[in-house]
Amino acid sequence: MTTLRERGWLDLCDEMMLNARRTCTPLSATFELTPLCNFKCKMCYVRLDPDEVAPRGCLHTAEEWVGLAREAVELGLMRVCLTGGEVLTRPDFKEIYLSLVSMGLLVSVLSNGALIDDEIVSLFAEHPPVLLRFTLYGASNETYERLCGAPDGYDQVMRSLHALRNAGVPFSLSFTSTAKNIDDLVKVREIAAELNAPLAVSTDLLSSARTSHCEASSLRVEEKSRFDFTPTDDQVVQARRARQVLSEHEDLFQGIFRHCKAYRTSFSVQWNGDMETCLVMSYCHCRPFEDGFAAEWKRMHEILGRLEFPHECMACEMRDDCPVCPATRASETGRPDGFPLHSCRMNYTGQTD
Ligand code: SF4
Ligand code: SF4
Repeated sequence: MTTLRERGWLDLCDEMMLNARRTCTPLSATFELTPLCNFKCKMCYVRLDPDEVAPRGCLHTAEEWVGLAREAVELGLMRVCLTGGEVLTRPDFKEIYLSLVSMGLLVSVLSNGALIDDEIVSLFAEHPPVLLRFTLYGASNETYERLCGAPDGYDQVMRSLHALRNAGVPFSLSFTSTAKNIDDLVKVREIAAELNAPLAVSTDLLSSARTSHCEASSLRVEEKSRFDFTPTDDQVVQARRARQVLSEHEDLFQGIFRHCKAYRTSFSVQWNGDMETCLVMSYCHCRPFEDGFAAEWKRMHEILGRLEFPHECMACEMRDDCPVCPATRASETGRPDGFPLHSCRMNYTGQTD
């Protein structure tokens, strides 16, 4: 029998994911701590103005988030990703972060990077997240103003990134491609290289029923020729491993959740307390803060287990290879089992009509 050292970290991760999927164990969580943000990005699927929060729910306290994590740890939780909105708009961010780290959880943080001050630099230098990722929305203040409504956003973010770099805190970057910033992509790649930070480029702009500010559908860059899609070495390795795992464990990857890695292994809790498989889904509306995590985790899978392909997909020969997951279907059609005409055409013809 090969030892763990011989098999390596990635094999161990795959094995944990497979076991979690088999046993329906909540290995990973995403906590959306707030819908509030210091930016106003036009494609954002979550941001609300402060006066829009109360009619939709209430922010949960640090104690509630930490209590939820504690309940999930009892069932196997190992990793938590903290996101927003902008997590650093929460005055109690440090308290939540340190509590989760001290529970032994592997904590990731996603942020727009503009609110990093000396205290946060010291926090991350002393207790580095397993993943610290900032979205770079452009390569100039003009782009930040056009897309994020933040006239000096670029300067703020670059100051933060240099402060973290000087303190030796590792981080990675992501770039969300839209019609308003795609021309900055080359420069953004150069900035990432100068900072020695891995860069992930995303093209998914999901529509959202969660906020009326989202203009995703009018901001998509539809022409594939405008992207320089050179995958990173890590992305190539990950895609290859995902294909291999899927082919070796067909029994665990069936039906409408075949290509969804979160199914039976992960959960996301929105700022208002709704629990779903991921933040793009809005279907189960399970309520772990009120009804307890264990009961709601079970109920969520009873609901998801009833989902089936729509009849258009049942008749499709590409079905087993189709990467369109229920969350993408939900974002496009309003239902996780809807027929996503736009995604279907984009995936298989590169055309939108
Ligand atoms: S996309 Fe991110 S940075 Fe932009 S408004 Fe939304 S939460 Fe804030
Ligand atoms: S979304 Fe399109 S390609 Fe995917 S299974 Fe349905 S019909 Fe087939």
